[in-house]
Parts: sequence; structure tokens; C-alpha cells
Amino acid sequence: MTALGDSMAEQNYSEVATVTAPEAAILTEADLEKRALGWAHTARFRTTASQLDQLPQTELPEIAFVGRSNAGKSTAINTLTQQKRLAFASKTPGRTQHINLFDLGPKMVPNAIFADLPGYGYAAVARGAKLRWQKVMAEYLDVRRSLVGVVLMIDSRLGFTDLDHQLMSFVAPRVGNGSVRLLVLLTKADKLNRSEAAQALAGAQQALGEIVTDEADVGVALFSALKKSGVGDAAKVLHAWVHGV
Ligand code: GDP
Repeated sequence: MTALGDSMAEQNYSEVATVTAPEAAILTEADLEKRALGWAHTARFRTTASQLDQLPQTELPEIAFVGRSNAGKSTAINTLTQQKRLAFASKTPGRTQHINLFDLGPKMVPNAIFADLPGYGYAAVARGAKLRWQKVMAEYLDVRRSLVGVVLMIDSRLGFTDLDHQLMSFVAPRVGNGSVRLLVLLTKADKLNRSEAAQALAGAQQALGEIVTDEADVGVALFSALKKSGVGDAAKVLHAWVHGV
């Protein structure tokens, strides 16, 4: 996928914003993907916070990105937004344990927020800091009112670890009652052959069985930033969470 230019993304976006319902019905899958990627490309840094009470209280629907450190979260965010260094802020010393927020949509009237949450499970982090962050993540996922969805990055070769199950348990009540949606991206899928990919999907579906209910909206997909596979589909899912289509 080639990166869309800013002006092109905005043009796509504003074209889309004026589409009326009957026309929307005839958009092809390719149109929908282009629209979703154009929207994702508008992401820009808004603010960073080390504590929940520092986060702005907004009405904008918020999508949180979570995952073990090294799961490929920063790369996935950069790929989804078609920006080389957007999630770079989350990697700079002093910000690795912050929640970084990005606005999406037209410049003057953003319509959604991406929240990049700190990667967990990094061995070198001191125990005290780990516990503090576990608490912040649990609280964020439990109480952040504007949260509409969570994108959980799982390294497709490793599958769900104890920490991933723990993370899911923080948000399970809200996923279970359908108020927060969940998309699991099995990252680095380019490293798997066909049967390994099928196994990774089956393993994830089994792990997700723990929290799936009739009300829950839970998806899982293979994702490769390297091969750019699963990117358009993931963008469409997130666009639909925010815009309904
Ligand atoms: P984070 O700690 O979760 O933000 O992980 P990063 O995005 O920094 O990625 C961790 C490592 O995995 C880096 O060396 C990336 O280059 C690598 N990586 C990320 N995505 C992919 C992918 O789609 N395919 C492959 N082969 N490597 C990837």
C-alpha cells in the first residue's frame, strides 16, 4: 500500500462525509477500504498522559490499542494510519509508560481518538512500575467512558500469554455486555505458513471464547505490517465502530 498524501486523504474524507445514505449503499468494498484508510490517515498526535486524570474528558469515541511490548503495536498503528512515525512518541524514553492520544477526522472537528496504551510485560521494567501500570490499564479499560473499542495486538507466533488473558479480563465485562468492541490482530503473520496461520487463528478463537457472549462484538484477524495484509480490513472495522459503516 502506498501512503496516501495528506491532501488526498482529506479529500477522500470530505467526499465521504457528504455521501448520503442511498449513495453509501452502492459503495464497493474497495471504496469502503479507501474511505477507512483515508480516515485512519488523518490521525495526529493530541496529547500524552501518565495518569488517567490527565486524560481529556471528551465525547469523542475512543479506540484503545493494547498489547505486550514487542507485539508489533507501534508498527500496526503506523501501518494503519500510513504514517512512518506516528506511534514513535510512544517509544521515546519517558513516554513508554504514557497513554498517547491521537485525533482523527477533519482538523477542526475531530470525530474519534486513538489511544496508544503502554505495552505490558517488558521484562526490564521494575516490579513497582509494572504494578502501577497494571492498575492504570485496568482502570482505563474499566472506566474510560468514551471507550468504544479495543484493538489487542497478539504476536501470532506466541499466541495469548497470561498477561494477555489478564488484560482481557480488565475489559471483559464491557466487551461481554457489548458496550466495548474488541478486535484482536495476530501480528507478524508474514512469519507463518498457511497451517501455522490457521492454528494461530484457531488458538485465538479459543482464547476469545472466554469472553464472548451473545452481546459481544469480537473479531480476530491475521495482520502483517510487512506484507500490508489485513490492514484495509482492520481499518474498515475501526471506521465502522466510529461511524456505524
Ligand atoms: P511494540 O513494542 O508492540 O510497539 O512493537 P513494535 O511495533 O516496535 O515491533 C516489534 C518488532 O516486531 C520490531 O522489530 C518490528 O520490526 C517487528 N514487526 C512489527 N510488525 C511486523 C510485521 O508485520 N512483520 C514482521 N516480520 N515484523 C514485524
